[in-house]
Order: sequence, then C-alpha cells, then structure tokens
Amino acid sequence: TAEREIQHFFPLQSTLGLIKPHATSEQIEKILNMIKEAGFDLTQVKKMSLTPEQIENIYPKITGKDFYKDLLEMLSEGPSMVMILTKWNAVAEWRRLMGPTDPEEAKVLSPDSIRARFGISKLKNVVHGASNAYEAKEVINRLFENPEEN
Ligand code: GDP
Repeated sequence: TAEREIQHFFPLQSTLGLIKPHATSEQIEKILNMIKEAGFDLTQVKKMSLTPEQIENIYPKITGKDFYKDLLEMLSEGPSMVMILTKWNAVAEWRRLMGPTDPEEAKVLSPDSIRARFGISKLKNVVHGASNAYEAKEVINRLFENPEEN
C-alpha cells in the first residue's frame, strides 16, 4: 500500500499523547483502539493527575494566553492518560489522528479524527499532542522516568 511505501521515508519517532480528564472510560477505550488501528505502538501509558508545573511543561506556548487559566483548571479536574506513542513520523501522524483544535472545525475538515468524534469544545477537545519532535522529547523526559524502556 501507499502507507507501507511512505514508511521507508520517515524515521521511527515518539511523541507525547494525552487524553484529557473529561474523557469518559468508554471514550478512552475507543481512542486507544483508534491509536492501535492507526499503527502506533503504545510504548508507555500511565494515568496521572498533572501538577500545574507539569501542565506548564506540556503547554510551553500557552502560558501567556487568556484561556490558560481555563486550561489549567480543566486539566486539574482529574487524572489524564499520558502516553508515549511510537510510529514513523509520529508527531505529525498523531496530530493528524487528533484533528484540528476546534472540534467543530474537525467535524468539517477531518470527520474521522478523535476531536471530531469526541470533542466537546475548543477547550474540552479530549486529546493533546506535542507540536514538534523537540517538544515531544522534552516533555516525555519530564513525565516518564524511563522513557526508553518498553
Ligand atoms: P493543540 O496543540 O491543537 O491542542 O492547540 P493549542 O496548542 O493551540 O492549544 C492548546 C489547548 O488550549 C487546546 O487543546 C485547547 O484545549 C486550548 N485552547 C486553544 N485555543 C483555545 C481557545 O481559543 N479557547 C479556549 N477556551 N481554549 C483554547
């Protein structure tokens, strides 16, 4: 398939994926299935309540924005699923599977994406992913003690 040919041109990469606290257990199960079906290895996964400091690390570019307080509050309301996702071109592939930030936009542009299917609003858009490979590495190293171990 075309997918199989593309793999030869992209290195194996890991990204940080996160399922936000408002996701129901049924949605989490469906999202984990979508992740596996998309060909990601779920290298590590853990449920954890993020501290404000960890949230700041996960969203390095958002701290000055007016909705940061809402984001902090929303991510503090319960445990998140934090994942290391490994695949060829994982950073971009995970962003593609998540879909656009705004679920309403996602429903139009990418109806099969996670945010189109389960997102409630721009803020409660069920999932997060690192923006680039550098950020992915940084945040994985902070959140996982042995990121290289399977
Ligand atoms: P992402 O990388 O697609 O998650 O998007 P961003 O990095 O731009 O934003 C980070 C998170 O902040 C998003 O996932 C949303 O939860 C939240 N967010 C982004 N833009 C808005 C906005 O305009 N309003 C609100 N309330 N939240 C937003």
